[in-house]
Amino acid sequence: MTDTLQSRLLEEISAREGDLVRLTQDLVRIPTLNPPGRCYREICDFLSDRLTASGFHVDLVRAHGARADSDAHPRWNLVARHDGAAPGDCVHFNSHHDVVEVGHGWTTDPFGAELKDGRIYGRGTCDMKGGLAASVIAAEAFIAACPDYHGAIEISATADEESGGYGGVAYLAEQGWFAPDRVQHVIIPEPLGKDRICLGHRGVWWAEIETKGRIAHGSMPFLGDSAIRHMGAVLEEMERTLYPLLAGKHTEMPVVPEGAKQSTLNINSIHGGEPEQDPDYTGLPAPCVADRCRIVIDRRFLIEEDLAEVKGEVAKMLEGIKATRPQFEYEIRDLFEVIPSMTEEDAPVVTTVQAAIETVLHREADFVVSPGTYDQKHIDRIGRLKNCIAYGPGILDLAHQPDEWVGVQDMVDSAKVMALTLRELLG
Ligand SMILES: [Zn+2]
Repeated sequence: MTDTLQSRLLEEISAREGDLVRLTQDLVRIPTLNPPGRCYREICDFLSDRLTASGFHVDLVRAHGARADSDAHPRWNLVARHDGAAPGDCVHFNSHHDVVEVGHGWTTDPFGAELKDGRIYGRGTCDMKGGLAASVIAAEAFIAACPDYHGAIEISATADEESGGYGGVAYLAEQGWFAPDRVQHVIIPEPLGKDRICLGHRGVWWAEIETKGRIAHGSMPFLGDSAIRHMGAVLEEMERTLYPLLAGKHTEMPVVPEGAKQSTLNINSIHGGEPEQDPDYTGLPAPCVADRCRIVIDRRFLIEEDLAEVKGEVAKMLEGIKATRPQFEYEIRDLFEVIPSMTEEDAPVVTTVQAAIETVLHREADFVVSPGTYDQKHIDRIGRLKNCIAYGPGILDLAHQPDEWVGVQDMVDSAKVMALTLRELLG
């Protein structure tokens, strides 16, 4: 490879800036809201037309039978492949095409994709249609500049990342699309920033804890047993022993932001007693002792921790309460769990993207780990593919916010990094 090719490639990307902006706008204008999973087929058809015209072979894959798949809201995924002139590695760019609800507080049209002062505004601009568009432009520019390359390029646009990825990457991984014999390098263009490489994510355990009581008239609570008071004892014990325990656990993983370098626990919800009535109910509540109280906990854990140990801490705490508190009865149910994932810093995709960032941006790349999970978990655990990172344009803090935006220059720079990565791995 010559430097001439490198400069040609960078020029190819710069020349496609208008195309990159239009592609991002077109993608944002397809409102792929999840839940429930709207317009998935439309966005796959749109990308299929685009990538077929660029010489890709396209497969549309519906995740039949996956969680949330239905005829009303089918879970459609796209996998596009372009083969080079000779055998070699396959580099796969995986983006999710779903976006979260709009929410309140917007000053621009969430699906208008307005371009203003070098930024495109709209739901999904940053998370992550800007990254998807950058990967398409990078691949098209690379194919134009280097038609005789070795190996293959794949681009996927997948469903349901925002709700666990079961109708998207998990399904594709189960069907063998991420098997290490067909894909060797995976880049997920999530909005981690154009100069940062995300190596992986912390682990997750969601569980529901229920305390049990006995219903009685609220004027004679001594005839019943309040599940809410029992839950109060659980919350008190969490404050007294569990939170300090978690605050003392620190990771060597480069997690951002800083606060996520320790184990964390959120109580997502609490509910006990009479259900909340509809807003149009004008009566008073009825006097009852609560016989059930439930909380949902969201425990994020570190690569140094073990899931069994994480669950064991909570079980031990609850058993401790049971030993000292008369009539304390509880149940705990697992809802969701993900093991932490972290790609090695010397993996080929990491060192290649790292060098490309230094060439394009003239600064050193930062390694980070995400506090929450994303589709890398399925590529790692189901696909068994370890050579995977997240790298893409956009500012992570803007994801899921009102007036979400992605910067045009950031997309152009990221596309350049992606194109140089292709040149290095397939050139
Ligand atoms: Zn995302």
